Amino acid sequence: MATSYETVIGLEVHAQLLTASKLFCSSSTEFGSTPNSHISPVTLGLPGALPVLNRRAVEMAVRAALALSCTIHERSIFARKNYFYPDLPKGYQVSQYEEPFSTDGHLEFELEGAVRRVGIVRVHMEEDAGKNVHGVGGDSVVDLNRAGVPLIEIVGAPDLRSSGEAAAYMRALRDVLLYIGVNDGNLEEGSLRCDANVSLRPLGQVELGTRCELKNLNSFRFVQKAIDVEVARQTAILDAGGTIEQETRAFHPEFGTTSTLRSKEDAHDYRYFPEPDLPPLVIPPAMIEAQRALVGELPFARRQRWVSELGLTPAAALILSQHPAVARLFEDTLAAYPQPVQVANWIQTEVLRGARSHGTTMEFGVTSGQLAELLGLVEAGTISGKQAKEVFAVIEGTLRSPRAVVSELGLRVVADAGSLRPLCEELIAAHPKEAAAVRAGKRGILGFFVGQVMKRTNKSAEPKLVNDLFAELLGIGPE
Ligand code: ADP
Ligand code: MG
Repeated sequence: MATSYETVIGLEVHAQLLTASKLFCSSSTEFGSTPNSHISPVTLGLPGALPVLNRRAVEMAVRAALALSCTIHERSIFARKNYFYPDLPKGYQVSQYEEPFSTDGHLEFELEGAVRRVGIVRVHMEEDAGKNVHGVGGDSVVDLNRAGVPLIEIVGAPDLRSSGEAAAYMRALRDVLLYIGVNDGNLEEGSLRCDANVSLRPLGQVELGTRCELKNLNSFRFVQKAIDVEVARQTAILDAGGTIEQETRAFHPEFGTTSTLRSKEDAHDYRYFPEPDLPPLVIPPAMIEAQRALVGELPFARRQRWVSELGLTPAAALILSQHPAVARLFEDTLAAYPQPVQVANWIQTEVLRGARSHGTTMEFGVTSGQLAELLGLVEAGTISGKQAKEVFAVIEGTLRSPRAVVSELGLRVVADAGSLRPLCEELIAAHPKEAAAVRAGKRGILGFFVGQVMKRTNKSAEPKLVNDLFAELLGIGPE
């Protein structure tokens, strides 16, 4: 009988911090510029060039670690990780190794209705490498714009048990980093990158199996798919009586396969040693407290509060809380028009349809003030929900007042019984068969009459009122 295995996954996620300049020099971090236009003697590792630590990067790194419930260590050490690669002109990457600035956190997220908590082993700061670009006029060339860009590496504990869970963790992590404004959540541009460590163990075994590391999975879908492929590969090897070699593997999305990149290097291969050009990093308590104050309510907590206190469905709470700009629009609109379910529906259907996001910011067609005013007009019975959509289409992308548009378009709900009564009477007279059916107890036929009124008033009548009027005129009393 084939053995059953448990999948064990731990993710290492690299997130680019949203600073204007690099980690150790004043070169710009701008994406997509002319190759090698954002470099300095420090980037190039020229002799005598000395690094100066970017304070903003430290602040953002601390904020991220706090959001992940990590302990912040007042004193930490930068280390050199030595290796040779063309995109690393210094011959080493400045990272943190033995003494990172933060450890022991966790991230909570929901998956299929259950709350999952995954450990964070450590969060440390490091610099990015450059980029090798192949096939330029038949050559390979190096772009160093990205070299020295500040990153945090978030090392997750091997607490994940399926590819779906790994993708959900990655999404939750993206949401948190986006919320606190330290990362733009852009996987395609590489500002958020994921390596997945995958192993199997026979069910019931405590000891972890040998793992393989899947490099640079740059979409949530690829995280899930690559792990599935790797689990299938390892299962086949173990079932055939083989053993897993620890190694680093690449995922090929176009073929749905993984292949060996290199056998796994051990830490000692990198000859880590403390960076002699940088003093120990000392994070003052005041900076930690200032950053703690900036973390604010995180998406997961907000989602739960919206469901329990505001009565949103979990699905609506998820959609509205994922991006901080959407969450802000929702809460700002609510402050002026405190009807959560209506506001949530409008944002999900009308507003998000025309929204455009750019990293941490998002452009909406309307402001919270316009939306609140529009919903207020519906509630006051000035216009119908259907008319509100027409008004929305007019004000979208402008800063015009819904109220002004309503009077300009001459929109008004016909909500006064006096003016609707003659029309109802006329319709009853014109449809004696239907009227008799209603009188005989077929309430459902009322819908036919209401529909006729809507047609005749171009949908501007208030349906509930019309319904009640017919009930009264046909002598069946209100529902
Ligand atoms: P290294 O120092 O080689 O990078 P770490 O012990 O720091 O190794 O672990 C790196 C990542 O690998 C972490 O995210 C961890 O959760 C994960 N990991 C470690 N061992 C296993 C294993 N046996 N199976 C799956 N993931 C693992
Ligand atoms: Mg590692």
